[in-house]
Amino acid sequence: MIITVLSGKGGTGKTTVATNLALSLANTQLLDADVEEPNSAIFINAEFSDRSEAVIKTNPVIEQSKCIACRQCVEFCQYNALALLGKQLLVFPEICHSCGGCIMVCPTAALTEGEREIGRIRADQSNRNPEFWQGELNIGEETAVPVIVQLKQHRAEDKTVIIDAQPGSSCPTIAAALDSDFCLLVTEPTPFGLNDLKMAVEMVKELGIPAGIIINRSEEEYDYLIAEYAQSEGLALLLKIPFDREIAFLYSKGIPFTENQPEWRAKFRQLYANIEGVVQNAADNRN
Ligand code: SF4
Ligand code: SF4
Repeated sequence: MIITVLSGKGGTGKTTVATNLALSLANTQLLDADVEEPNSAIFINAEFSDRSEAVIKTNPVIEQSKCIACRQCVEFCQYNALALLGKQLLVFPEICHSCGGCIMVCPTAALTEGEREIGRIRADQSNRNPEFWQGELNIGEETAVPVIVQLKQHRAEDKTVIIDAQPGSSCPTIAAALDSDFCLLVTEPTPFGLNDLKMAVEMVKELGIPAGIIINRSEEEYDYLIAEYAQSEGLALLLKIPFDREIAFLYSKGIPFTENQPEWRAKFRQLYANIEGVVQNAADNRN
C-alpha cells in the first residue's frame, strides 16, 4: 500500500505523522517528497553517504546568431520562461517546464535542448527500518515536480510506502499524491487548519484517492471544528494526537515521540489497520 501524508499548510505535524507511522510498522519505506525542505531524515536518524543521484531537467539553449526575433517561442511558452529584449532572446531556465515546445516552433533552429541539474536524490545507508529516501530541490529552483517524480521511481514493490508530501495543494503535492492508495490529511483544530484542510480535501477528491483525517495538537474543546467537517464530507477521523508538551519537546529535539512513548506504536499500527479498512471499502464501492 502507498500512503501519502499531506497537510493543507506547513507546521501541522505532517512529518511527525509520516515518520512515527513509518517507524511503528514493519517492512516500510519512507520517501521524503517535501523536497524544498526535507527534514524526515532528522527523525529517522538517516545516514547518508557521499553518493547521490542527480535530477536533471532539460531546458532550451539559445544560439543568438540564428535567432531572427520572430517571437514565436515567446508566444508559445505558457510559463513566461522566454522573453525578447530588443532582438535578444532571454531564457529563464528556473521557471521552464521542459515541454520542448519552443524548440519545435522555432523556424531557424536557434533553440536546442540543454540539461541542468536541479536537485538530488539520497538514500539512507543504515539498512534500518524504514528504508528511507529523500528528494532535494536545489536552492533557487522553481519546479519541484521532476525531483518528486524521480524520487517516486524508487518506490519499493514489497514494502508499505509512506510519502511525506509538500504542504499545500499545488503541483508538487499533487505529484507526491498521484498513484497513492490513500491520503492521510493532517490538520490542527483551528479555523486556519480547517480552511487549509478543505483545500486538501478538494484536491484528493479531484484525484479520486480515498482519504482520512488526523488531528494533531488535538484539544477536546476545539476538535469539533474538524470533526463536524469530516462528518459532513464523509471522511473518517482516524487519529487524534494531543496537544502535549512532551511531544512538542521531543519534536524540537528531532526525536520521534513513539520512541519515548512506545504505547503510541500500537496506535499507529491500529491507524494502519483502519486505513486498510477504508481502502477496502472504497474498492468495494467502486466494484
Ligand atoms: S521548454 Fe516549454 S516551458 Fe520551457 S521555455 Fe520552452 S516552451 Fe517554455
Ligand atoms: S522562435 Fe527562434 S527565431 Fe523566433 S524568437 Fe524564438 S529563438 Fe528566435
